[in-house]
Amino acid sequence: MKTHKIAAIPGDGIGKEVVAAGLRVLDACATRDGTFTVDVANFPWGSDFYKANGVLMPEGGIDELKAFDAIYFGAVGAPDVPDHLTLWGLRLAICQPFDQYANVRPTRILPGIESPLRGVTAEDLDWVIVRENSEGEYAGQGGRSHRGLPEEVATEVSIFTRAGVTRIMRFAFQLAQSRPRKLLTVVTKSNAQRHGMVLWDEIAREVAIDFPDVTWDKMLVDAMTVRMTLNPRSLDTIVATNLHADILSDLAAALAGSIGIAPTANLNPEGRFPSMFEPIHGSAFDITGKGIANPVGTFWSAVMMLEHLGEPAAAARLMRAIERVTADPALHTPDLRGNATTDMVTDAVCAAILGDNE
Ligand code: ATP
Repeated sequence: MKTHKIAAIPGDGIGKEVVAAGLRVLDACATRDGTFTVDVANFPWGSDFYKANGVLMPEGGIDELKAFDAIYFGAVGAPDVPDHLTLWGLRLAICQPFDQYANVRPTRILPGIESPLRGVTAEDLDWVIVRENSEGEYAGQGGRSHRGLPEEVATEVSIFTRAGVTRIMRFAFQLAQSRPRKLLTVVTKSNAQRHGMVLWDEIAREVAIDFPDVTWDKMLVDAMTVRMTLNPRSLDTIVATNLHADILSDLAAALAGSIGIAPTANLNPEGRFPSMFEPIHGSAFDITGKGIANPVGTFWSAVMMLEHLGEPAAAARLMRAIERVTADPALHTPDLRGNATTDMVTDAVCAAILGDNE
């Protein structure tokens, strides 16, 4: 029997609720499959830990995580802690040292879910957004001088390296090649940003030569928001910088029905370090403690984690279970205009996994 070692970091707000639900679902997957077990260690890191200890995760935390096969993450952020502290103190403090440079965000309209776009169905919207996750606008380069004075200055420098752009383009072209439509859109802003974004475009053209069977095009990020809304069918795989993809993937999640549904994988594709799986939503303190958080994004993230761990049958079974449950409006949480609770959805997904005969 194989054992997969999972580090669970529920974090803050509804992160704690949805990861607890996700771990129940993973257990059900292992029970139904019978060929593997999941060995979960819980790390209580995040804003509460920060208030008690002055740091979001302890020194040496990264070394502890190295021993795991994957990380299952909830959300980080609290109303009384500045957002840039929580983001850099935990999420990015894991993504960067573990070189999780490819952030993969599938978006589909699941059965039973309605897009806010009139007449748009599951056939029209089936995308994967690849977000560069190690440099670009979130490289962390910059600083502030002359604090509080009229001449105060702050810089936020975007970094685009040939190595960084090449590896994410190769990843995106490979992913596009593996999907039936073999279609890639490279998002850019090279009309206004004439250094980093021009390098980005040049490298896209270079890498494309190695993928003659992939049809690709280039799109300015502003025009991309229009195309996603008015012509979703024209898109399949999408690659964009750290900032651009951050914004576009929230739009994508909303167009597919709810931000509570969308999953993310932060991959270190070479497997030198553990990869991390999480819903794209944040800690959502407005609904924390009410038991109504939609756990589907966290479950779909577990699908991606099972695929990464080499359990394709269990991953497919979990995805079938999720789709069976979303198809039933009685099991929709309030973000989908339903009345179901997190527990009701979780119980139904566990039952669908255990009862799956395929
Ligand atoms: P962050 O700043 O970390 O992104 P946030 O709380 O400001 O976090 P999100 O959590 O991403 O923002 O989402 C915004 C709103 O969407 C939430 O306040 C909440 O009302 C709703 N929402 C997000 N995730 C879920 C979910 N899983 N289930 C139900 N509603 C959700």
